[in-house]
Amino acid sequence: EKEKVGFIGLGNMGLHMVNNLISSGLYHVSVHDKNFDAMKKFAERGIATKGTPFEVAQTSDIVITMLPSSSNVMEVYTGPNGLLQGGGDVVRPWLFIDSSTIDPQTSRKLSATISNCVLKEKKGFRNTPVMLDAPVSGGVLGAEARSLTFMVGGSEDAYLSASPLFLSMGKNTIYCGGAGNGSAAKICNNLAMAVSMLGVSEALALGQSLGITASTLTKIFNSSSARCWSSDSYNPVPGVMEGVPSSKNYDGGFSSNLMAKDLKLASASAEDIGLKCPLTSQAKEIYVKLCEEGHGSKDFSCVFRHYFSGSDI
Ligand code: NAD
Repeated sequence: EKEKVGFIGLGNMGLHMVNNLISSGLYHVSVHDKNFDAMKKFAERGIATKGTPFEVAQTSDIVITMLPSSSNVMEVYTGPNGLLQGGGDVVRPWLFIDSSTIDPQTSRKLSATISNCVLKEKKGFRNTPVMLDAPVSGGVLGAEARSLTFMVGGSEDAYLSASPLFLSMGKNTIYCGGAGNGSAAKICNNLAMAVSMLGVSEALALGQSLGITASTLTKIFNSSSARCWSSDSYNPVPGVMEGVPSSKNYDGGFSSNLMAKDLKLASASAEDIGLKCPLTSQAKEIYVKLCEEGHGSKDFSCVFRHYFSGSDI
């Protein structure tokens, strides 16, 4: 008998993820989004839609959430008509998976709340539900192409049982350790990516201003110690590489808005535990400023352009 999976959050990422889940044919899938239009498209295809997260919980063995931010995740879990209906402690789903990018502190809090619930019906040896934080990398294209990487925190048993589910939506899964570690992995990856993008952009801007072309300097980086993803796969200078956002007016790709969001999460986490992270703070300020100046929907490599725009980032 197929397990019933409820999927909540049918946005840019969730829409493709749930489509791949449905195509796998492994599960009975139902969906929910607070945006009625997003659900309508599924209803028209004959896929079960649910009016509230609580209804999803009542009819699912596994629930997956893919929501914008921590506050939406808390609302969907613990809000009125939420998955736990405000902390109700007897639930049907044995597994909750949150794939949203949120702070590890919230993931841990939620995991503790879930582990205090009781299952309506025992699932094997379990009588309490489990939660996995499982954010993804790969972006909208990866979600569509089923090539996402899942970084997963929580119980290792639950991770192993959920692996077919992850592989129906992506191609890699990495177990990161206890609750919150998936969220920690995700924000640390994006922090390193932001800082390397800023480093490469700044060095190429300085080089250009000193008279060496960005393409020559990139060749040198890529055969020397400065080589990194931002120089050899996602170069920020228009015309140096084909097919990347910088050569398409910085359209598509990973938006500065999302980068600013992730850097805020990294910065808040660092502050929370009292670790000094000066580059995180500075990268966050730069991306927040870029967004304020109206470049939030451009790819995050557009930071290169702003060395020459008179902006005081
Ligand atoms: P999105 O804004 O396109 O979609 C979010 C969906 O959640 C929307 O359809 C919205 O209506 C729904 N929603 C919000 N609050 C809700 C609620 N209370 N109840 C029900 N539905 C609700 O966002 P996205 O781009 O799909 O991103 C989702 C998550 O994935 C974010 O945490 C983001 O940081 C992360 N992420 C995004 C990308 C990317 O490239 N877009 C890449 C990796 C990770």
